[in-house]
Amino acid sequence: MTEKSYGGNNGVREHVGGKVTKVKSSPSVVKTPKATSKKIVSNSKLNEDLNELDSYKKAGEIAKKVVEYAKSLIKPDMLLIEIAKKVEDKTIELGGEVAFPVNLSIDDIAAHYHPTIDDDTKATGLLKVDIGVHVNGFVADTAFSLDLTPDKRHKELIQASQEALDSALSILEKDPSLNDIGSAIQQAIQKRGFSPVVNLCGHSLDQYQIHAGITIPNHANNSPHKLEEGSYAIEPFATTGEGKIYEGPASNIYQVVTPRNVRGDTARRILEYVWEKYETLPFSLRELQEKFGNIAKLGLRELEQNGIIHSYPQLIEVSHHPVAQSEHTFIKTPEGKIIITTR
Ligand code: MN
Ligand code: MN
Repeated sequence: MTEKSYGGNNGVREHVGGKVTKVKSSPSVVKTPKATSKKIVSNSKLNEDLNELDSYKKAGEIAKKVVEYAKSLIKPDMLLIEIAKKVEDKTIELGGEVAFPVNLSIDDIAAHYHPTIDDDTKATGLLKVDIGVHVNGFVADTAFSLDLTPDKRHKELIQASQEALDSALSILEKDPSLNDIGSAIQQAIQKRGFSPVVNLCGHSLDQYQIHAGITIPNHANNSPHKLEEGSYAIEPFATTGEGKIYEGPASNIYQVVTPRNVRGDTARRILEYVWEKYETLPFSLRELQEKFGNIAKLGLRELEQNGIIHSYPQLIEVSHHPVAQSEHTFIKTPEGKIIITTR
């Protein structure tokens, strides 16, 4: 997953639309998932003795394997729904949990597309595969792009995003400012004659939080701010277009922002299910359609109308040009050591 920046993008904590801080309390109707009750997710028991650092590392190890699996799995014209199911099943099989619905975004959709159960969209063009794995809520967020065109016309654009990511990661040990990181990304992309998407950015991560308040711009930005210890994702987006995205239709990806009591029976059952399983991590309409049937749509609508969940929009390039993405997660230790967990 990525984050749209809303101006004032200097890397300090900012509160953007729909983003939540970790929810401290849960409504009486929603059982608290911690310790008291068994988690629905299958691998929590297996991982319960891991500390924070080892959880991050394990999530990264699993994410690497899921990426390799996805690269071997995906072929042109495969249904996105099939890819989504297999990628998420593989995550569980390897001992991880799904941190967010795999984003399968084609061409000018830069990010935040996930198929619904009856979606017949096929893998074509420039496909971004953005994968999230968590262990005890500690997330590995990683993405790659595939050129599925017969003439491989997006090859260089994908290289540009990859080189930008490599360039940014290569300077982390030097304790760079956010401007240094953004400049490295911008220069690498422009060197190939393309543009960075300036209003998408990397971000800090925290337990059960994909976006924990710090943003890492993909362009030169004048910020002297340096990264403190913690976990972060860097994710350059390169495009042949203007280099900006707008918020498009719903992505079918949601997140609980304010868990509280709700009237409708379906809405209440959905809230219980997703809060127990995901807390504040994103989840998909697709999974709920599989579990509850198509009535899940109505339940989600009620939750959204009551401000309980946030619906992520698709993020689409303004000039409708193709966008490539590359992403890795890293940890900065208290000693300033950099551990790239997903590479
Ligand atoms: Mn991501
Ligand atoms: Mn991300």
